[in-house]
Amino acid sequence: MKRFLTILFGCLFVFAGPAMANRHIDFSLHKLEADRPGNTLLVIGGIQGDEPGGFNAASLLVTHYKIKKGNVWIVPNLNFISIIKRTRGVYGDLNRKFATIGNSDPEFDTISRIKAIMLDDQVDLVLNLHDGSGFYRPTYVDRTHSPNRWGQSIIIDQKQIPAKRFGNLGEIANQVVAEVNHYLFSEEHTYHVKNTRTGEGDTEMERTLTYYAIRNRKPAFGVEVSKTFPTHKRAYYHLQVLEAYMDLLGIEYERAFNLSARGVNDAIDSGAKLAFYDNKIFLDVTNARKRLAYIPLKKASEIVFRPSSPLVAVVESGESYRVFHGNRRVTRLYPQYFEYDSSINAITIEVDGDERKVDFGNMVEVAQSFLVVPEKGYRVNVIGFKKPGTRNESGIAIQKDDIKKRFSVDKKGRIYRVEVYREKKFSGMVLVSFSGEREDLRVSDSSTVSLLNVSDLRNGPLEKDSSINSEDISHLGR
Ligand SMILES: [Zn+2]
Repeated sequence: MKRFLTILFGCLFVFAGPAMANRHIDFSLHKLEADRPGNTLLVIGGIQGDEPGGFNAASLLVTHYKIKKGNVWIVPNLNFISIIKRTRGVYGDLNRKFATIGNSDPEFDTISRIKAIMLDDQVDLVLNLHDGSGFYRPTYVDRTHSPNRWGQSIIIDQKQIPAKRFGNLGEIANQVVAEVNHYLFSEEHTYHVKNTRTGEGDTEMERTLTYYAIRNRKPAFGVEVSKTFPTHKRAYYHLQVLEAYMDLLGIEYERAFNLSARGVNDAIDSGAKLAFYDNKIFLDVTNARKRLAYIPLKKASEIVFRPSSPLVAVVESGESYRVFHGNRRVTRLYPQYFEYDSSINAITIEVDGDERKVDFGNMVEVAQSFLVVPEKGYRVNVIGFKKPGTRNESGIAIQKDDIKKRFSVDKKGRIYRVEVYREKKFSGMVLVSFSGEREDLRVSDSSTVSLLNVSDLRNGPLEKDSSINSEDISHLGR
């Protein structure tokens, strides 16, 4: 498997200030399409916000897979607001709104849009990813291994539908189960096919996404991993299932990590990076401090950012912005507002004695020391560095120990901000990293970043807009 380490920056996100109350976070659709034509698989993650195995697996498809033949369309974050709020559904259960929905329902638009995507002529097969309770077994073994459980199953509503292709749902599900059962960590994790026989009077399942799809002659399956596993193990199993479906549909792909528990864990963790305003600011917030102060945001402007993953969200919260990566709260940004200067987009830095030009928005690996080469008219501020009597910190060789650790971006005290100003205007930011890691394993050059679906603009929510619904409904099936 060929590795590719470029981080794929998903959508461009815009959100405006307090005037934009009542906006909510929308889901995103990512179309991975190969030059070589073939079938199209639609993968939906995050229909319920408290099922991180599904939405992380779907997100990894977006960021860490390249499709070489055929197409994979991915909606990794269907119920994004509930993902952030860590609840099944802020506005009730989204997977019970496919049969009927009132037009005053806050999710009316979400339902209409996802239905249209599912029924798009190009889509050959739909998968809806879930994290379910216990372990499904066709016959009762004990409380957690029984016909009433959902985990480790491929769900069909019925064996057959009158679709032109892939209508033999039962056979397909059996093939996928047989394939995935080669890759189990333990016998207990064995997958089975679960037929809900929805059309025979299951009023609950009649309202789900998959039943809507099959009634419209679109092959669709529910995919359930067991909630008993930690998130990365759930995502591991989901990816095994997704790859089995891709193989079955003749979709060819490359994956940028090893499909192991460890590999999936590291890939999920690599997902939290943010570039603001055309890369003037780039933050790796993977292991960021809880609070990052004095972030130089643009005065009287919408916030515009590009995340490294479709699960990254920036939510306005009073005077600050909270950054989420899926259901994880990664950091809180406290802004200081500046007018922006666009006269330069790079600075020259001597890194361990080597002079090089560094574009704003990049991170530079430093072993010993760095020095920003002075440029007339521009002032350099290394956040956390102070030299009495000096306002402009260019021309000074700076080592890690010269910077106060509490000003680092990351918790470990390795990554620091170098900011450039022209008089009172902010010109741009570069990060320096004293991580001691090999540079080629880091995302040090965000200018090589690939952009997907850049046209997808959206507005972030105000935090107070949606109430937290912490009601425990985790016993419910998919
Ligand atoms: Zn579910």
